Amino acid sequence: MSKPIIVSACLAGIYCRYNGDIEPFQPVVELVRQGRAIPFCPEVFGGLSTPRSPCEIADGRVINDEGEDKTEQFQRGAEEGLRLAQLAGCTEAILKARSPSCGSGEIYDGSFSSTRIPGDGFFAALLKENGISVRTEQELED
Ligand code: SF4
Repeated sequence: MSKPIIVSACLAGIYCRYNGDIEPFQPVVELVRQGRAIPFCPEVFGGLSTPRSPCEIADGRVINDEGEDKTEQFQRGAEEGLRLAQLAGCTEAILKARSPSCGSGEIYDGSFSSTRIPGDGFFAALLKENGISVRTEQELED
């Protein structure tokens, strides 16, 4: 039996996005429906609430738009997600593009000006460091 894919919970339509919106991405919803994917939200597992202030990464720290440092919560959530992914034997992830946790290959630059830079979110980076391949939902659409 193939191993499950770990996916951003928000892509499965679960209430966890920073702004409280529900935005299911149907290919991921279908994977979960078929029992082939495990939804996970590192920010909620790190102890943050929904909705919450938007965060961006600047100089390796996670700062919200009120200037508060949320690095510890992001780190904890990423570590719990890695624990779950390893427990389930996942070798693959499908994560939400450009999130400071889940983004892969491109994130925002920390200025809250919608400026994109190369980089990974905390969760995506930790999964990659541990040999789990990461694609975003946008790469699935290509
Ligand atoms: Fe979605 Fe990831 Fe943000 Fe959670 S941390 S809401 S799973 S993009």
